Amino acid sequence: MQETRSKKVFFISECLVNQNIRAHGVRNMRGEGPVAELMEFFTKHGIGMSVVPCPEIAYEGLKRQACGKACYDNEEYRKVCRQIAEEVIKRYKYYLDDNYRIGGFICVNGSPSCAIDYCYADKEGTQKCKGPGIFIEEVQKKLGQEKLKLDFFGFRAKEMDAFLATLEKVVQGW
Ligand code: SF4
Repeated sequence: MQETRSKKVFFISECLVNQNIRAHGVRNMRGEGPVAELMEFFTKHGIGMSVVPCPEIAYEGLKRQACGKACYDNEEYRKVCRQIAEEVIKRYKYYLDDNYRIGGFICVNGSPSCAIDYCYADKEGTQKCKGPGIFIEEVQKKLGQEKLKLDFFGFRAKEMDAFLATLEKVVQGW
């Protein structure tokens, strides 16, 4: 039987396929359940989603309150993040070894854990600051140690059209 695998994937933060897991006090990004526009994009292009488990759930479960980066910048949480980062990199290497196309990691801007471009520094989550969240920092460190490169795309529902256009460009370049 002939295989019909596209061997095309993106890594994606778990809450983009299941918004139910977001912290108490933060709204859904778009609709309910998954972010439908992203699911449609991947389905249309025959691209798989490699879901990256939510590090905050691993640290403190579902019943957690929304909080800024200050709540998570501690060694205990970084250890949890490093463990998940290791699994992500391991999977990344498997994909590379089997000649997959990996478009990058779709993460969540604004999150104290999964942002790439900006998040919020203080416990109240009101002081916007540039740069990645704690989990993405740990993923980037691990990538550096392994001398690997991976593109990150920070999702923001308000910029949906521009975001999908960026992904489209990546896919058209394959
Ligand atoms: S920690 Fe990451 S995966 Fe978990 S809810 Fe926040 S942005 Fe989503």
